[in-house]
Amino acid sequence: MTKWVYNFDEVEQAEAGVGGSWDGVRGLLGGKGANLGEMYRIGVPVPPGFTITTEACNAYLENDESFPDDLLDQVATALGRVEGKTEKKFGSPENPLLVSCRSGAKFSMPGMMDTVLNIGMNDEVVEGMLEIFDDPHFVYDSYRRLIQMFASVVMGVREEPFEDVLAEYRERRGVESDSDLPVEDLQEIVVRFKDIVRTYAGREFPAEPNDQLRMAIEAVFRSWNGKRANDYRNAAGIAHDLGTGVNVQTMVFGNMGDGSATGVAMSRNATTGEPKLEGDFLTNAQGEDVVAGIRHTDAIDLLGKEMPTVFGEFRDIAGRLEDHYREMQDMEFTIERGKLWLLQTRDGKRTAQAAVRIAVDMTEEGLISRDEALMRVQPDHVDFFMHPQFAADSKRDAVARNDLLATGLNVSPGAAVGMVAFDPDLAQRWAEEGKPVILARPETKPDDVHGMLAAEGVVTSRGGRTSHAALVARQFGKPAVVGVAAMDIDLSERTLTVEDRIVHEGEWLSLDGTDGQVFSGKLDTRVPDIDDPWLTKLLSWADDVRDLDVWANADYPVDAERARRYGARGIGLCRTEHMFFEPERLPLVQRMITAETRAERIEALDGLLPHQREDFAGLFRVMHGYPVIIRLIDPPLHEFLPSWDQLTSDLADLKIRLRSASTLQEMNSLLEEIDQKTRMLGRVEALREQNPMLGLRGVRLGIMRPSLTRMQVRAIFEAACQVTREGIDVHPEVMIPLTAHVNELARQREVLEEEARAVMKEQGVEIDYKFGTMIEVPRAALTADEIAEYAEFISFGTNDLTQMTYAISRDDAEGGFLIDYLSGGILEDNPFATIDRDGVGQLMEIALEKAKRVRPGLEAGICGEHGGEPRSIALFAELGLDYVSCSPFRVPIARLAAAQAAIVSKATKEVEAEVVLVD
Ligand code: ADP
Ligand code: MG
Ligand code: MG
Repeated sequence: MTKWVYNFDEVEQAEAGVGGSWDGVRGLLGGKGANLGEMYRIGVPVPPGFTITTEACNAYLENDESFPDDLLDQVATALGRVEGKTEKKFGSPENPLLVSCRSGAKFSMPGMMDTVLNIGMNDEVVEGMLEIFDDPHFVYDSYRRLIQMFASVVMGVREEPFEDVLAEYRERRGVESDSDLPVEDLQEIVVRFKDIVRTYAGREFPAEPNDQLRMAIEAVFRSWNGKRANDYRNAAGIAHDLGTGVNVQTMVFGNMGDGSATGVAMSRNATTGEPKLEGDFLTNAQGEDVVAGIRHTDAIDLLGKEMPTVFGEFRDIAGRLEDHYREMQDMEFTIERGKLWLLQTRDGKRTAQAAVRIAVDMTEEGLISRDEALMRVQPDHVDFFMHPQFAADSKRDAVARNDLLATGLNVSPGAAVGMVAFDPDLAQRWAEEGKPVILARPETKPDDVHGMLAAEGVVTSRGGRTSHAALVARQFGKPAVVGVAAMDIDLSERTLTVEDRIVHEGEWLSLDGTDGQVFSGKLDTRVPDIDDPWLTKLLSWADDVRDLDVWANADYPVDAERARRYGARGIGLCRTEHMFFEPERLPLVQRMITAETRAERIEALDGLLPHQREDFAGLFRVMHGYPVIIRLIDPPLHEFLPSWDQLTSDLADLKIRLRSASTLQEMNSLLEEIDQKTRMLGRVEALREQNPMLGLRGVRLGIMRPSLTRMQVRAIFEAACQVTREGIDVHPEVMIPLTAHVNELARQREVLEEEARAVMKEQGVEIDYKFGTMIEVPRAALTADEIAEYAEFISFGTNDLTQMTYAISRDDAEGGFLIDYLSGGILEDNPFATIDRDGVGQLMEIALEKAKRVRPGLEAGICGEHGGEPRSIALFAELGLDYVSCSPFRVPIARLAAAQAAIVSKATKEVEAEVVLVD
């Protein structure tokens, strides 16, 4: 016989039934039920009750919505045990047991059936209760709540007729809160509520307590397949076959006068992480009142003044629950005439800042280990400290002002403030005019991408976590909130409506992509403190456990400074060509490219040399003691020249102006300009390639134009010698891009090393340097053993390696078909964001294995954008790379991710070792 029902004191049996795993208990009983049983087990006061399993729910739904044979018998037995414990009887007027019926799935989930309180009341029970409690106000207040809740939640009657009646009485009496109505009113309300049920449901409110309970259980089961629950599971990626548990629990009453109360509390502050109870409560109220926000709640501290003993007890229990679960807890409680009861506990949700502080504090309190603390903080939490966020108080004020319009799915973190635009073209135009924009659409399509890029943030009324809007926003790091169902966007009226609030195009909107909130108006943003003491400590623990070093991609000394401040211990990529675009250098670069004679070219190069030398010297100074990898020029030369389109249209312009020139002088200067542009156009045409990405670039350029790369190497070594004399400890590493064949490297290295030696000799200084190459072409990966003969280090350029392995042009694809590939499920992840383990990862593995066979001490790292992405970092750690190099802003995230990779791999090895021992 299947056991469908577990009393709260049977959690051990449930545990045995699922092989002892707590996750299994949560799966069987749902999170709420499992924790109620667990609280009972450790001696926390919980009103007696029982849980109907998720399996029963599934059986009911599979069986055409009918109960498994013995379910109702088991419910009756369980209820009997509750009656025994409470010495009350369900349905009896003499000493009535009332219960609540609460849904609870494995994962907490909006859309499931709301709780029904006070089940078990009818006219006879009311009579009995009046005698027992001698408190008619409480009795009728409970009864009218039952009828309303039951009718709307179980019988599907709309809320409005009930609310209209309540409003009518409140107005007549001039009171704000329903519980302030006098008994006579509540009595009348009960009668009118029953009429409403009769009218709207076409049947009587069920007077038989057993019918009430059965109907409520069925309603919970059915709510699992309700539309809201389904949508939520789809959006949140929760399996549809988990089912929900049902908890039936003895009622305790927070509405029995001033010695009674109900409230919710977190064991620590969920915003800052401060280790101090935080919460709200209401005296003389029932559960739902606190969350419903109808009455103004009091902060939990006040409970300490009003009921010090109960408060002390609650604080102790909160501490015990934390010790037991080793996590910050979110609790619901009720005080019935001075007696405290816990009604729910679960791990509390928290901000990133609180997550970091709580993990560190709990470690120092001895509750969890350092490894656990490191595993509990998400790399995304670290990201929080790097980007603007809404200040907590400005959010609080906005909520108080009623400016929180709606909440949707938090698909891309960060804060964005802008003027709302309803179409992508307008968004782009406003952005070009320098206005910050929020793009609002019912949903987005590939045609909207330019508007999304121009916007500060994106909000949509439809769509889930894998919608087009969500994917694109995450891709480009735009804060976004999607699936804001309460929001109605009217594209023809150009308005956004939430209930009675209307926002017109051009009005201000603030989006919190971290929490999924949409506010009207402009909220203050603030960049959180990267020097947060708890974060600093956590990251220092991360540094202790990780094997993978974290370096940064930095072109300028300011970037390098930031990288060091964020904890980078080397520069993995300095892109030398970026400096060529600066205004005083670009003309020199262009002269070098377009030079017709060798002398002219040398002159241009000589002009560039001091600039490059200063660039490198600056980097070396900042990176004192750490390696600096400098990559020689990589892009095709045409990128430094004006575009062909631009030149031809300029020329056409000039020729028109020439025709209308009035003075000889004007004609002369126009002719000269035409001549110049024509020559430039000639060079551009000569350099033009069909596929520049696969063209004359990288090492090929160095081979075809050795004077350029020679100049760069000279600049590197002159700078190194110069800073050595200043007392700087310098370790330059010269990196050759895009090698495909070993001969390219052999040839290029010879030329360059000659130059390096020449400089060191001239300067009389010995530099500790390395020569190496990027591995960013599949052929280079496959022949890495040959390449390692000439390379003292290799660095995987995973951006190009991914492009070349997939034959996908990233720039074109990411705004185009790649999005369809992702939303259509052809690709699970964007390979430019998360490394493609099976393809690119395999190439890396082959390359490493081959290269290290030839050169065991070879230094190997990665400098693509994947270097800052946690899942990719896990692979790089597995492959045994020495370092990842990423944008300075990703360095702290990479430090944590690298530590997590080390912890996971240590755990796996321990399990493997145990398996070996067992064998
Ligand atoms: P939710 O999952 O929406 O929080 P709950 O089942 O936790 O729903 O219940 C909603 C409110 O009703 C909570 O404040 C809870 O404390 C209260 N509540 C539920 N069961 C009881 C009970 N047996 N006695 C008193 N209050 C209850
Ligand atoms: Mg609850
Ligand atoms: Mg590259």
